[in-house]
Amino acid sequence: MTDDPAADTDWAFHAYEAARSRLPQPKFADGFQVADKLSDIADHFDTFLLDGFGVLNVGKAAVPGAIDCVEQLRAQGKKVVLVTNSASTSISGQVERYAKLGFDFTHKDIVSSRDPTLAAIEKSPRYTWGLVADPVFGRDGIDHLDTQFLTDNSVDYDAVDAFLLLGCTAWDEARQNMLEHSLRQNPRPVYVGNPDIAAPVGGSLSRQPGYYAHRLADVTDVVPQFFGKPFFNIYEHVFTRLGPDYDPERTVMVGDTLHTDILGGRMAGIKTALITDYGVLSKADINQAVKLSGIVPDYILSRI
Ligand SMILES: [Mg+2]
Repeated sequence: MTDDPAADTDWAFHAYEAARSRLPQPKFADGFQVADKLSDIADHFDTFLLDGFGVLNVGKAAVPGAIDCVEQLRAQGKKVVLVTNSASTSISGQVERYAKLGFDFTHKDIVSSRDPTLAAIEKSPRYTWGLVADPVFGRDGIDHLDTQFLTDNSVDYDAVDAFLLLGCTAWDEARQNMLEHSLRQNPRPVYVGNPDIAAPVGGSLSRQPGYYAHRLADVTDVVPQFFGKPFFNIYEHVFTRLGPDYDPERTVMVGDTLHTDILGGRMAGIKTALITDYGVLSKADINQAVKLSGIVPDYILSRI
């Protein structure tokens, strides 16, 4: 967003804090334990829910050691599930993305925020959806829906029944203004398939659908519906995937973002571990961020 990573970090933290009233409100323990890396606490857990951006990868590069870490956990008989708010692509697209980075996740190893989003759409009326998504990713996985990519034609914004926010790489202020204007004139449902406000891409942070959705909520009468971390709807899909035998006390959500991974993991009744070296908080004063937010992970780790 800017050339100053520390300013970006500060911006993202305060943007999440400004949105707190729309996020789950679990109670937290007072303290946390500190360790260097995930393998140091692996004995405490059987199931590892790993976030993508900021934990396994930063943009299009794997985090150093992440591929080995996943392999070692599996070799120890641990269950590893990628739990991501990345909604731009289908699960097949995610399998492909992580294969290119050197990971070997299959369909059954990945739950994305698209899963609860599509489940909610199944229960909705047959809307024509205005898509906030980059056309470069196509319609794989959503081709059964009636969708219109929103670009620079304001007529499209007024013509659809509801809006689906999946990704923002092709989104800009002019389009956001058209969406705000259209929703002010005619409020309609807004489904947010990625509640993230910011995500690490390369050396900086990029704005994500949650950022634009909270702005819509601030200036229109629309109440966006969020699907993905920190909301319980994605964890329902994870727990269904894990089956009835998983033990919440021996299941840990590993993520780089207090307001999505840690808040969501706590809300879901499992343990949480915050990764500090590669993600949204890599330039932050972690103790200060935990103190100011009151979002307290069970563990703070430098890296996976
Ligand atoms: Mg992340």
